[in-house]
This record gives sequence, structure tokens and C-alpha cells, in this order.
Amino acid sequence: MILYKLICKDCEISFDSWFASSKEYEKLKKKKFLNCHACDSFNIQKTLMSPSVFRPKNNTKIDNQSLNSKIIKKTIVEYQNFIKKNFDYVGENFAYEVRSKHYKNKKTSRGVYGTASKKDLKELNEEGIKVESMPWVKNTTN
Ligand SMILES: [Zn+2]
Repeated sequence: MILYKLICKDCEISFDSWFASSKEYEKLKKKKFLNCHACDSFNIQKTLMSPSVFRPKNNTKIDNQSLNSKIIKKTIVEYQNFIKKNFDYVGENFAYEVRSKHYKNKKTSRGVYGTASKKDLKELNEEGIKVESMPWVKNTTN
């Protein structure tokens, strides 16, 4: 799943939307299935995603128990590949990198991903820095 921040160029309302893949986004846009929630305009544009914000929402298909685990894993792997391609890996420095981004307010910089302890996450949360976690599976060829 991919979270895109979409913006309506007519009324300038922005909203978040989940897509199965970046291809799905392009397809929906082409077919004019993407319209503004407020004014119905098709003048919708994808903006930069908020850095470090990635998580399957509770109401997405990932948590639907009727889906078999293979599909779930595939979705997570696709999701991971997207993150690997578009985000900078900072490993153990995650909390530090997220903080420096937050305090320098670098809006156009790429998102980061890495590992953080529960303590780090709690502290970042207390500082008002939005960080999301997601399941991470090992890429195996089976
Ligand atoms: Zn609009």
C-alpha cells in the first residue's frame, strides 16, 4: 500500500489516499476516477509524501483476515520496495535523522526509513514528531 497526499488544484484542499501501487494511482487518474472530495474537480495532483509516514491503516486490506498471508506478504514486499527506492535508509540513526529533519523543517527532502527502538518512538512521539511503523518482512525468493 502507498499513501499519497493528493491536492486539488482548484480548491487547494489536500487529502490522503491509499493506493495498491503507484501504477494504480496513475491508472485511476487516467480514467478520471480521482476527484476532489470537496469540489469534484479532476484537477488532482500528487504531492510529496510526508517523510517517515508509512503504515497500513487499520481499515486497509492488510488487516483483513480473509486475505491469505501470501497476498499480504506480497503487498508488504511491494511496499518495502517502494520505500527502498524512494526513501533514504538511515538504519540505527533513524531517531536522529527524523529529529534533524523535523527541527530543520526540510519540507522537500526525501523521507527516511530505518530502525528505532520503542523508546525512540515514544520519545519522538512526545516531541510531536510523527513517525509510523510498518511490518517488515525478509525478502526471500520462495
Ligand atoms: Zn477541490
